[in-house]
Amino acid sequence: MAITRVWVEDNCITCGTSESLCPELFKVDHDIGKATILGGVDFAPIEDKIREAAECCPVEAIQYEEG
Ligand code: SF4
Repeated sequence: MAITRVWVEDNCITCGTSESLCPELFKVDHDIGKATILGGVDFAPIEDKIREAAECCPVEAIQYEEG
């Protein structure tokens, strides 16, 4: 199934892992203390990286929906 939506929960600890693994989509914002999702990104070519980032997040803050 294709990833249709990605978001970051508020328990993000801004460790930077998601941005390192998938900079096309994740950007740590230290001002708000959370990783953010960049807009206008096509998930299809980076699905494996999104899944890897979600698996590697130490606090399981990355969530996604598939459809
Ligand atoms: S890997 Fe998880 S805790 Fe680390 S910056 Fe990304 S969302 Fe936040």
